[in-house]
Amino acid sequence: MKKFRPKIPIQGKDIPYMVFNSLDQAYEVMSCWMNKLGLQDWIIRLDIKPAHKMSDPGRVGEISCYYTERCAMLTLREYDPEDYETIDKFCHEAVLVHELLHAKMPTAGKDTGETYELGFLNSYNHQLLNDMANALIMVKYNLSKEWFKNFEERSNE
Ligand SMILES: [Zn+2]
Repeated sequence: MKKFRPKIPIQGKDIPYMVFNSLDQAYEVMSCWMNKLGLQDWIIRLDIKPAHKMSDPGRVGEISCYYTERCAMLTLREYDPEDYETIDKFCHEAVLVHELLHAKMPTAGKDTGETYELGFLNSYNHQLLNDMANALIMVKYNLSKEWFKNFEERSNE
């Protein structure tokens, strides 16, 4: 008799890479996305660090771009289920794509003395890049927007 085996989704084949299990794997996935995004002539150093080593511990990823030299330093936050409680899923691949999109589109500075207008523009640009990154992930893995939710909706009975 044939046994029923439930299909377990394979990370990176059926579902996005949620957590890179090595820096090598992260570099491999990054190089695929760099090709797709037309960033082949960029030199990007990648790192995965715990939250307290990020320049802002609230961030899941950050990138410093040197546009003239086409160089960047990209950091992804290490996954720690203890410190991650948000309403969207933790997904290294989606964060990676978001950060790479920054290399395509410079965003305004974030330093002190920021005006309301600059703050607004920044938030808008990050939101736009996030939508684009998520859309690319959705297309690659045939996912819906719902997939990014990190919670179950409660029915109000
Ligand atoms: Zn951003």
